[in-house]
Formats: sequence, C-alpha cells, structure tokens
Amino acid sequence: MSIDKTTDVGSFRSAVRAFVTEHAPRSDVRDGLRVPADPTEEQGLRRWYAALFDAGLLGGGWPPRWGGDPAHRAEHDTVVMEELIRARAPRPLDQTLLAAHCLIAFGTEEQQAGFLPRIRSAEHVWCQLFSEPGVGSDLAALTTRAEPLADGSGFRVTGQKVWTTDAQWAQMGVLLARTDPSARLQAGITAFLLPMDAPGVEVRPLREMTGSAEFCEVFLDGVEVSNDLVLGAVDDGWSVVSSGLSSERGYVGANAVQLDVMHDDLVALARVLEIDGRPAIEWDDVRDRLASLAAEVAAVRTSAARATGRLGSGTPSGAEALVAKLAYTELNVELCQAAVDLISSGRGTGDTFAALRDNWFHSLLWSRALTISGGSSEIIRSLVAQQLLGLPRSWARTS
Ligand SMILES: Cc1cc2nc3c(=O)[nH]c(=O)nc-3n(C[C@H](O)[C@H](O)[C@H](O)COP(=O)(O)OP(=O)(O)OC[C@H]3O[C@@H](n4cnc5c(N)ncnc54)[C@H](O)[C@@H]3O)c2cc1C
Repeated sequence: MSIDKTTDVGSFRSAVRAFVTEHAPRSDVRDGLRVPADPTEEQGLRRWYAALFDAGLLGGGWPPRWGGDPAHRAEHDTVVMEELIRARAPRPLDQTLLAAHCLIAFGTEEQQAGFLPRIRSAEHVWCQLFSEPGVGSDLAALTTRAEPLADGSGFRVTGQKVWTTDAQWAQMGVLLARTDPSARLQAGITAFLLPMDAPGVEVRPLREMTGSAEFCEVFLDGVEVSNDLVLGAVDDGWSVVSSGLSSERGYVGANAVQLDVMHDDLVALARVLEIDGRPAIEWDDVRDRLASLAAEVAAVRTSAARATGRLGSGTPSGAEALVAKLAYTELNVELCQAAVDLISSGRGTGDTFAALRDNWFHSLLWSRALTISGGSSEIIRSLVAQQLLGLPRSWARTS
C-alpha cells in the first residue's frame, strides 16, 4: 500500500524509514555491487524493488495511469534516496529507472502498457546498450547497425556493446543502433526496446578490479527486432538517449548524501586506527583533513540538492546537474583516497577496523567507475565550460 504523501515531509521520512527497516533485504550492500549472487538473492532483490513501487517510493512521479501518485513531489524522491543510503539498503537500478523515463517520454501507449507494469512488479530488469568497444564518450560514432528487414516488419541488428550494466540478469534493454549509415553523428541513430532473450543476443559478464562482474559484453548477431519495438522515431534515437542521460546525471548528483555516510565512516576509521600509539583522530593533521573534507561534503550536498530540486520541478537542470555529478563523483574519490592514506599511515586491530578497511578498499576501487559512467569527468567539464561558462566548443565531439 502506498505511503501517504499528503503529510509533511518529516512524517513522510519517518514512514519511509520504518518501511526500509522492515522490508530491506539483508545483503552485502557495497557501492556498485548489486548483481545478485544467486537465485535466492535475486528473488529477494526483485521482491524489494516491487515493494518499493507498491509503497510509492519508486515510480511516484509517473503518470497516475501507470501507478504514479498525484501527491508526489520531487522532495519525496530525495527523502527516499537519502533513507535508502543511510540504511545501506539496496538502491534502485539506474538503468531500469532510465528505461522507465524513456518509455514515459517517448514510448507509444502499447509500449507503456506492455512494459511499465512489468517494471513496477520487478518482473523486468532493464539494461542500457549504448557503449561499444572504442565508442563511449563519443557515442554518436557507434557502429552497431540496424538494417530494415526485406518485408518491412522490422530491423536486423548486428554489432557489439560493452560495459552493459545488469545485462546478465536483465529481461529487456534500451539499444542504440545506426539505421542511416549515410547520416552524420547524432542523426541516423535509432533507439530500440530489445528483449535480451531474442535469438542472436549473447551476454558475457566482465570481471572488474573489485572482483565482481557488474557489467557485460553483449554480442548482437543478426538480431531481429520488430517495428513495434522502435522507441521514439526512426533515426531520432539521439533525443531518447539525451533525455535519459541528463536524468541520470541529476540522479547521480542526488546521491550526494552518500558522501555524508562516507565521511561518518572516515571519522569512525580515525577513531579505531592508531598512529604512533595515539588514536588517529587525536592528531591535528588528521583532524584538519577531516574538517576540510566535511566542508567539501556540505558544499556538494547543497549543489546537488539544487540540481535535484530543479529536475523534480520539471525545470531543465542543465549545467547544475552536470556540476553536481562532477562534484559528487570527484569528492567520492577524494574521501576514499583519504581513508586509504589513513589506513596506510596507521595501525588498526579488531573486527570494526577490519570491516571498515575492507569496505574502504572496495570503495576506492569502485570510486573511479563513478567518474566515468554517465559521462566522464573530462566530458562533463567540457559541457560545463560550454553550457555554464559560455566558452567556445572544443575540437572534440562532446554532446
Ligand atoms: C560503472 C560503469 C557502468 C557503465 N554502464 C554502462 C551501461 O549500462 N551501458 C552503457 O552503454 N555503457 C555503460 N558504461 C560505459 C560508459 O558510458 C563509458 O565508459 C563512458 O561513456 C566512457 O567511454 P569509454 O569507456 O569508451 O572511454 P573513452 O570515451 O574512450 O574515454 C577515455 C578517456 O578519454 C577521455 N576523453 C574522451 N573524449 C574526450 C574529449 N572529447 N575531451 C576530453 N577528454 C576526453 C575520457 O574522459 C576518458 O578519461 C558504464 C561505465 C561504467 C564505468
């Protein structure tokens, strides 16, 4: 049953906190780790996502006919995300939410009716088939081809995708393929809704330096996709992807509360670690670093909150979402580096120290990924230079 959103935000937050405490599955939740380890964990995760939709904690902003709540406001999304992060509960799957965003913005009535309810019930997990070997930042150079079938009923898709998060357990994917090879750059690309069990789709998980396999290579060998699975207009897939990625950047920025949690963990580490026989937290240089990082965290949270507020109110967040994404992901790296510096300069013992240390090592390895996904820091800086500072466009293709 949906949690009441007509109350004040404080009451809503209390209700969300109680809900998360009662329903969140107990699993080893670490940043970036979300692919289930086995079928039992997968069922638990799917039940959890379905419960979040049922309670109106996900999908609240969708059109009411697809289960959205007219009382839903942007701040509800922020509260939900903050409570999930603070409880260290599994977070929503970005690629699935992005697919929902694209379906609502560009899907036909039939596509929305066919797919949105299955996202709500968590029957469908979605992935995002954009990047290719050699094509990431410069996405418009993608080479996966979609050629019309002779009978005009659809397209035959051939190519390779890479870094496809969640592909190993996704039922559906949003695929970008080139439909007009003669068109330049962003023109001539089409977005498709791809069933991941279609003949000719092969998924191979990739193991990362964290030790887990969160994303995959996907090979597309003559995959037939019918016309009713084209998302938006043929040759206009760029509009679909642009809308999806800009919402992703704002969403990443909204996660800034994660930095608070990380800073708390850093202080906890400084308490249990000893440097030259004294707790690290008692040394002035350690305290200085903790204080300056706390100030940076507060600044990033403010900027992210502004971007999230604009996104939620339907105002284009533009450069603010870009700045929030950049600041959040770069400070995330800095916090991890500060923790690992501390660990290497001191001596810790006991279970609390061991758990913190393992978590920080994992987080440091993962933190770089966030500065790449959803637009690398270099690309974001170029976009900020153009959109916020009005600087001339560089020679490279960055949009
Ligand atoms: C955790 C994670 C999850 C991901 N999930 C998905 C997914 O689900 N689906 C999907 O399709 N993709 C996904 N990706 C891929 C991601 O979108 C690409 O990695 C990203 O776009 C960068 O592309 P690339 O890896 O090809 O690097 P490149 O584009 O080759 O860039 C290499 C380096 O060059 C820099 N660079 C490139 N162009 C410029 C320029 N014009 N100016 C200045 N510097 C530049 C980049 O900043 C980077 O440092 C994911 C990536 C990560 C890390």
